Amino acid sequence: MSTPFPQPVEIRRDGRTEIVITWADGHLQRMTNHYMRCKCQCAACVDEWTRKPLLDPAQIPADIHADQIAVVGSYGIQPFWSDGHTTGIFSFPLLRGICPCDACKAAA
Ligand SMILES: [Zn+2]
Ligand SMILES: [Zn+2]
Repeated sequence: MSTPFPQPVEIRRDGRTEIVITWADGHLQRMTNHYMRCKCQCAACVDEWTRKPLLDPAQIPADIHADQIAVVGSYGIQPFWSDGHTTGIFSFPLLRGICPCDACKAAA
């Protein structure tokens, strides 16, 4: 039995600091750009085999932001970061999994 994973109904860039996602189940997810950039799981940011982070958060510019966010089918989103990093795809389960709100952290 599989329940379809909730889909985002709106992905909004809030100025240069935050990304706000409204999910189909009504959940509002708010993250800073810097936080989301640090959570990138692509092969350049996380070692594919050991899952060790290769990314040093200190190397990410404090004013990082997504110039563009592309939707990848019904699967996820691909941010085009202002530091030139574009290879990271956030699947919807991954995206929802990094929600920093208290409710999500309590559920994790
Ligand atoms: Zn990455
Ligand atoms: Zn949440």
